Amino acid sequence: MDDFSRKIEKLSRMIQDAQRIAGFTGAGVSTESGIPDFRSPGGLWSKYDPSDATFDRFMKYEEVRERYWARHTEMYELMKKASPNPAHLLFARLEEKLLCVITQNIDGLHRKAGVPAEKILELHGTAEAVKCMVCHTNFDREEVHQRVKKGEKAPKCDFCGGPLKPATISFGQPLDSELLNRAFQFAKLCDLMICMGSSLVVQPAASVPVVAHRAGVPLVLINNDPTPLDLLATLLIRGACGEAARRTMGLL
Ligand code: NAD
Repeated sequence: MDDFSRKIEKLSRMIQDAQRIAGFTGAGVSTESGIPDFRSPGGLWSKYDPSDATFDRFMKYEEVRERYWARHTEMYELMKKASPNPAHLLFARLEEKLLCVITQNIDGLHRKAGVPAEKILELHGTAEAVKCMVCHTNFDREEVHQRVKKGEKAPKCDFCGGPLKPATISFGQPLDSELLNRAFQFAKLCDLMICMGSSLVVQPAASVPVVAHRAGVPLVLINNDPTPLDLLATLLIRGACGEAARRTMGLL
């Protein structure tokens, strides 16, 4: 039996022995659904300049907002077409053992896979909603998307004229502190954390597996590339999350 197969067997045993499983996911779980991540070769940071995308610059400059909307519109169209892959389906399959999925993703694929909405903590928000950055009115993403398709380059609020932005967290924008605290609580409460498809470098999200580790929770890390938390893993699987999840489900 090869090393990958042995590790998949170990993961299926760990899942069977656990009672309260937490998932922690990043952009890598969705690349096999056709949505690029940021840091893989050919990922979004090889196409766009990350320093352009800070919240501060979005609020200050109309041309930054226009570039932001152009980029987000391209991504939103991919997200609308995307279907969940086995990496998302594994968490749905865990059913009542699943405490939560803490995700950095904004694509809605965990929900599409069948994980109940109340168990999904979207730390970086969602691309499926839009918010006015001045009066905080919420807008339906699809309606705003149609306005952009008709030529509005950086849509504005119908009520106050403030800049509209997808309800996602940009660099320099604070996370929802109540949501983040819940993620840290779940990290201490679970008895197994499965981290998939994250470079584990984006803070404060990347502290969630560290909190779990400090609470004595075994960590499984599944990722194509090395991460700074590899040394903390009880089980480290180097490879594609979709393939790892598909083979794990075959053993459950
Ligand atoms: P990241 O881009 O920093 O890292 C992704 C990691 O996944 C990389 O280490 C890469 O090696 C790995 N990877 C890619 N495809 C994989 C696969 N099929 N199997 C296994 N590993 C794979 O992503 P991140 O750590 O989630 O970080 C950051 C930010 O990216 C978050 O803020 C998130 O909001 C945003 N983002 C989200 C989406 C999405 O919602 N789908 C897409 C792009 C970026």
